[in-house]
Amino acid sequence: MVTHEHRHDDTQLVPLSEHLQTVVDAVRPLSPIDLALLDAAGCAVAVDVVAHEDVPPFDNSAMDGYAVTTEQADGWLPVRGEVAAGADPMVSVEPGTAVRVMTGAVVPAGANAIVPVELVEEDSDQIRLQQLPQPGAHVRRAGESVRAGDTVLVAGTVLDAASIGMLAALGYSYVTVYPQPRVVVVSTGDELLEPGVQRMPGAIYDANSYVLTVLARQTGAVTVRRMVASDDRQLLRDTIEELLPHADLMVTTGGVSAGRYDLVKVVLAELGDVRFQKVGMRPGMPQAFGFIEADPGRVIPCFGLPGNPVSAYVSFEVFVRPAIRRLQGRRDLSRPRISAGLEAPLQSVADKVEFVRVTLRRRDGDWQARPTGDQGSGILRSLVEADGLAEVPIGRDSMDIGERVVVHLLRSV
Ligand code: AMP
Ligand code: MG
Repeated sequence: MVTHEHRHDDTQLVPLSEHLQTVVDAVRPLSPIDLALLDAAGCAVAVDVVAHEDVPPFDNSAMDGYAVTTEQADGWLPVRGEVAAGADPMVSVEPGTAVRVMTGAVVPAGANAIVPVELVEEDSDQIRLQQLPQPGAHVRRAGESVRAGDTVLVAGTVLDAASIGMLAALGYSYVTVYPQPRVVVVSTGDELLEPGVQRMPGAIYDANSYVLTVLARQTGAVTVRRMVASDDRQLLRDTIEELLPHADLMVTTGGVSAGRYDLVKVVLAELGDVRFQKVGMRPGMPQAFGFIEADPGRVIPCFGLPGNPVSAYVSFEVFVRPAIRRLQGRRDLSRPRISAGLEAPLQSVADKVEFVRVTLRRRDGDWQARPTGDQGSGILRSLVEADGLAEVPIGRDSMDIGERVVVHLLRSV
């Protein structure tokens, strides 16, 4: 009975959307930490940030010029003083007088407009306006950018230059964010060699751990990369156990398909609640996912990705990137997508979502997609040339020239 059910699980294709939902629902954001502003760039804020004061905090001049009262600004106006940016104004503007102000200076009491210096006739200690200003002219009002009590950043927003600047403008020197996840990447396989050493018969250089480590870093993770050039069960287990305490998420590659030496799925299942599944996607059908206790009381998500380089890459984009972004507390979980017209037909299989490496170009104001060549799951070269992954939905075994397709962008185009 158990044997039968197990077999059934192994052969049934899990829809991609279902597997992705399982991953996204299961992975929780890391515990927030307080970071100094500059260290927080690239992280998502963990709380809604509410302004505690107005920005700007006081009415100030938008120009170098003169503060006046619009009700009495005709004729020659005596200049009764000056306010520089950063100064506490010691003078006020009586009707029929003016005060010289610099950009950013506090608007002196009594004034309701600023006249730019270019529009003023100056004569020793008095000025005459070329024309009467509107009330409020060239005055930057307190709170015109942000009002005290406004929510300026919603939890989950990734901090960039502008939002870090906004926090600084509000006077905050620290911000509560989700930390950078630590991602451990482990490549496995008897045939693997480190780049840089002499090639031996039957061996290939380990490309996947480089691919996955770069992807993880570009997703905002701190990474550890390790190659286990062996399909030895005990060595795999020892290596993974050694690395677990240093990981918030673990990704392995290789050893999850149906071969005699595909022991990674066995080892992952021994170490925690990690299940092997066939997911309805191509490339990337064999997938292991689950949780392992990394330290007492701390479980982390673990992915066992297939060994073919393109399968590993696509699996990262489809499942691992969203999982890392969940750890990061981000709301946007995937790369941007666009809609494109097809310049060449695409092949697929009906029971799987097919990801086709494509180049993109603009034609008549619209995006056009074209496959990059051989779509074998080992052909890393066609990924090097690709701008994106076109998604042929489940239920379709081909798509024709001129049809519209969703393309996941892999680089900015
Ligand atoms: P596996 O999933 O271990 O059966 O591997 C599938 C295919 O991917 C085999 O041809 C492996 O040689 C290849 N492969 C596995 N790991 C890597 C890697 N780290 N770099 C490049 N190719 C790999
Ligand atoms: Mg292998």
